[in-house]
Amino acid sequence: MNSRTPYIWGHHRRFNTYSNFLQKKFGRRIQKIAVDAGFSCPNRDETTRKGGCTFCSNEAFRPKFCDADKSIKEQLKTGISHYKKRYKTPQQFMAYFQAYTNTYASVDILEERYRAALEFPEVQAICIGTRPDCMDDAVLNLLEDISKEYFVSVEFGIESVFDDTLEKVNRGHGFEQTVDMINQTAARGLHTGGHIIFGLPGETKEMMLYEAEVLSKLPLDSIKFHQLQILKNTEMETYFREYPEEFVQFSLDEYLDFLLCFLEIFRPDIVIERIASEIPVEFLVNTAWNQVKYEQIVNKLENLFEEKDSWQGKYYP
Ligand code: SF4
Repeated sequence: MNSRTPYIWGHHRRFNTYSNFLQKKFGRRIQKIAVDAGFSCPNRDETTRKGGCTFCSNEAFRPKFCDADKSIKEQLKTGISHYKKRYKTPQQFMAYFQAYTNTYASVDILEERYRAALEFPEVQAICIGTRPDCMDDAVLNLLEDISKEYFVSVEFGIESVFDDTLEKVNRGHGFEQTVDMINQTAARGLHTGGHIIFGLPGETKEMMLYEAEVLSKLPLDSIKFHQLQILKNTEMETYFREYPEEFVQFSLDEYLDFLLCFLEIFRPDIVIERIASEIPVEFLVNTAWNQVKYEQIVNKLENLFEEKDSWQGKYYP
């Protein structure tokens, strides 16, 4: 492709990046601020299963400004003031309901908490992180209603397209349920996203590449990729110590090569929200390249795309 020609996502970066997507949609920088709205998770409180996903540690997953002891408004106020000082340019914000399962309450409670975030004039968008088995018509009705005024994104934990893997990590739902909920959410016109973990036990690189084909067929608008980070004091740590041979442990270069191959066959209009996760090193068991900054990982991937003269969807059928 001629380097002067923008790709179908309208810019010259080699993959369809989320920051560019938001800039185009809102005409300015949109900063996501994570909030802990005080929800729990049906996979942790024994409604569905006991123990939660084997990789889960919400302590480690919880980003700054998230503090369930503070109200949603207090958390957002702190976050907004931090980012206003850090970036002098005018910004708008997306409240990211990230911790645990953010549709796990009655619709009245959900509405109260989502709308609390939207009382800030600077907050023009919400993103709701949830599980596919914790979404129904009533919640979709609420989100669809909110989306008449605000940008609403739903982010499903997909994690894997393989039921054997989902079972092994005690996810508590199968892939079919994920497909069904993604279809229903997209049909409501809501921005539909998901995240996938690369390196779950029992999955080979070939299986992970196959996921690109399967996910490309879903009506997804965006996706996040996470390399498996094994967290201390989780079931996954115990399993990893017992069966290390079941895990593909990528070096950074291997991970970038893998991502390049994955993205080459991935649908080009799906926006790539993240390519790796960043968890503070003190929580981690496998720390090989986890101290490399996220921006450096993105730069390395972009350089690799340049070097190979490749791009997202180059081989998408
Ligand atoms: S669904 Fe999320 S919060 Fe619940 S156990 Fe799994 S990773 Fe943890």
